[in-house]
Amino acid sequence: MSPFTPISPHGPPTKVALISVHGDPAVEIGAEEAGGQNVYVRQVGEALAHLGWQVDMFTRKAHPQQAEQVQHCPGCRTIRLTAGPTEFVSRDEIFEYLPQFVRELLGFQQQESCQYPLVHTNYWLSSWVGMELKQHQPLVQMHTYHSLGAIKYANVPNIPAIATTRLAIEKQCLEAADCIVATSPQEEAHMRSHLSSRGNIQVIPCGTDIGRYGAMTRAEARQKLGIPLDAKVVFYIGRFDPRKGIETLVRAVAQSKFRTDDTLQLIIGGGSRPGEKDGWERDRIEGIVQDLDLADHTQFPGRISNDALPYYYAAADVSVVPSHYEPFGLVAIESMASRTPVIASDVGGLQFTVLPHETGLLIPAKDIPGFSRAIDQILADPSLREQWGLAARKRVETTFSWQGVAQQLSQLYQQHILQMTA
Ligand code: UDP
Repeated sequence: MSPFTPISPHGPPTKVALISVHGDPAVEIGAEEAGGQNVYVRQVGEALAHLGWQVDMFTRKAHPQQAEQVQHCPGCRTIRLTAGPTEFVSRDEIFEYLPQFVRELLGFQQQESCQYPLVHTNYWLSSWVGMELKQHQPLVQMHTYHSLGAIKYANVPNIPAIATTRLAIEKQCLEAADCIVATSPQEEAHMRSHLSSRGNIQVIPCGTDIGRYGAMTRAEARQKLGIPLDAKVVFYIGRFDPRKGIETLVRAVAQSKFRTDDTLQLIIGGGSRPGEKDGWERDRIEGIVQDLDLADHTQFPGRISNDALPYYYAAADVSVVPSHYEPFGLVAIESMASRTPVIASDVGGLQFTVLPHETGLLIPAKDIPGFSRAIDQILADPSLREQWGLAARKRVETTFSWQGVAQQLSQLYQQHILQMTA
């Protein structure tokens, strides 16, 4: 029996809109600012459709060649609206195009003669869209932040011009939305300490596909990737952004006691575009690798596709997530689902996902000797790696599967729609 209880048992499935203005759920992940938010929206959308919801995911068209609609599975599609130029625009420059996005969304609804009783907005830009829509039609607004300006700006040297607007909208959204979906208790605490004591917050974590990860042994994965069985593999995957702390990882590996061991391999995966922000960061990291004489030990495979990623996680002895801050950090649970322990910065959602000395280790952000010692501890002890890897997999199965996460979201949606229509 489907766990979905339709709101009107004889009517059509209930429509919901997921709004993700700058994080297109239909694009390839790993470049052009595409990361966890894109994955979250796509996975939530598809999982909700499997539970019986009719899901429309709205995003901004960012290339002239992009299709206006992409059908992902029955009941779940991405709809690309025109708002500003049909080219890549950095998230800090999108705000001025949002009124057009709202007009286009209202126009789409008119064209399709439909309304959404619930919209789930993602990131502060979309929260503004949701609050605007609410002025035009009755609806429930759920919101997930994905990143909090107040935390981000405390950790970057250059504060963008949009910061004041963003901070004000983030506070307004917490107080005005029907419900905020925080992805970890740590994120909820940060909303309370940095935004407002008012507003309704529920914690529902991010999830991962437990069927896709963990389906192969380390030996099978290494054979597929051409990595020798005796190699000591340290793995990073994610966007090239200074706040991801890749520099900390490289410097930690340079201090490892296995540094002169021929079998040591550092794999730094993730896409980048020459001449853009992520390209500059990749150049900077490659420069540090050269300076520290680590080039012979280091590979940069570039963007790793959906199909290849499970092999990399499974082949690694340890994944490292050295971010300066992370509201959730999908990479950690993907690695854990692959039975590979995680060494992560002791920040944000990583404090929720990684259990120290059970599924990996937590180290203060930017603590190079600390990361180095942690990497050595796992590389030196394969039985510890196995034990923590198995516990990590178990933790993901019980707490972070997309099916479980989508069911929690589905129940929350139903509860709020029923309250609105009562
Ligand atoms: N990712 C990927 N290929 C890449 C780089 C990243 O598939 O080359 C995916 C990664 O598997 C994860 C997401 O991008 O699902 C990154 O999410 P996370 O929450 O770790 O970081 P964010 O991008 O949100 O800062």
